[in-house]
Amino acid sequence: MAGKRDYYEVLGVNKNATDEELKKAFRKLAKKYHPDANPDNKKEAEAKFKEVNEAYETLSNPQKRKMYDQFGPDGPQGFGGGQGPFGQGGYYSYSSSGFNGFEDFGDLGDIFSSFFGGGFGGKSSRRQSGPRKGADLNTTVDITFEQAFSGIEKEIIITRNEECTTCHGTGAKPGTTVTKCATCHGTGQVRQVQNTILGQMQTTRTCTECHGTGEIIKEPCQECNGKGKVRKQPKIKIKIPSGIDNKQTVVLRGEGEPGEKGGPKGDLYITVRIKKHSIYTRKGNNVLCDIPISITQATLGGEIEIPMVDGTIEKYKISEGTQTGTKFTIKNKGFKSINYNSVGDFIFTVVVQTPKRLTKEQRELLVELAKTMNEQPPIKKRGIFG
Ligand SMILES: [Zn+2]
Ligand SMILES: [Zn+2]
Repeated sequence: MAGKRDYYEVLGVNKNATDEELKKAFRKLAKKYHPDANPDNKKEAEAKFKEVNEAYETLSNPQKRKMYDQFGPDGPQGFGGGQGPFGQGGYYSYSSSGFNGFEDFGDLGDIFSSFFGGGFGGKSSRRQSGPRKGADLNTTVDITFEQAFSGIEKEIIITRNEECTTCHGTGAKPGTTVTKCATCHGTGQVRQVQNTILGQMQTTRTCTECHGTGEIIKEPCQECNGKGKVRKQPKIKIKIPSGIDNKQTVVLRGEGEPGEKGGPKGDLYITVRIKKHSIYTRKGNNVLCDIPISITQATLGGEIEIPMVDGTIEKYKISEGTQTGTKFTIKNKGFKSINYNSVGDFIFTVVVQTPKRLTKEQRELLVELAKTMNEQPPIKKRGIFG
């Protein structure tokens, strides 16, 4: 995957390009590199075409575009690409289907027929009754600041349709068969020829007999009422990578809705929400924190203890005469960026605490100190604070 060109660059648009601009750029380039338009160097044109197609496929899908902007051209690294230990899923790669030649245009068929004069003939009717990818699902998960810092494996429960195990998704009662619709011959569409003054016109409509499925179920499965799917609430294991930021997304491929007619399953998009922490805040990959110190620590200097996000304690020496509001940086103790290319810092601000209550002895010492500093000692107001 290394050396892959930036998708925005491939399409020649800037990062803020609107959907309309993307579409326009894609049309222009698709036309330019279409193999039919390049009979002399078909191979090269096809490679270019493939690249343009992949770029457009990703950037024209808002969720994929968000992922792309988040993780860059090589995709989310370092959290188990492919078939990982987390069920059948596996994490997301941008080009979900790959490119299987010009027969496999899917949704792009519409765009193509609009400027190649329907050159992808027969495609639309096949699309209706052929395999289709299942719908993508969205969910959110709440995690703590510490969990975002360390990364976490979590089980979540989602609601989705799953293939009916009784009929294995056919919708037919076990032992009975599904037959091809005789009206449309299994295509799901019916062609009608009408005689008009311009000659014969051919129109197609969805088959009313099978409602476009191309199949007739004589005896529906009782478990799923012939739908082939049942509502389920499976537990799904997800792995949230260390360094994830609020509202970033983890994608589990193949954990969405089941496909139609043997098509692949959709994907599951999980938006991560990170709870506010009582002492830490995050800025980029840096962790920010206020550390209270006493007036003597501030004045004399010394070693103070800093509670780190991973639960350890870091000892840190401050020099004498440290002023309240001074910032200190502990290098590389912040968040890892999600692709592990960089690590943020832990930045703490010392806040000098003026004591609200003193023992008699402390007070006397302070009064003595104040005298040496040429300061007027405070007037003790009995009865109010005593
Ligand atoms: Zn069933
Ligand atoms: Zn039919």
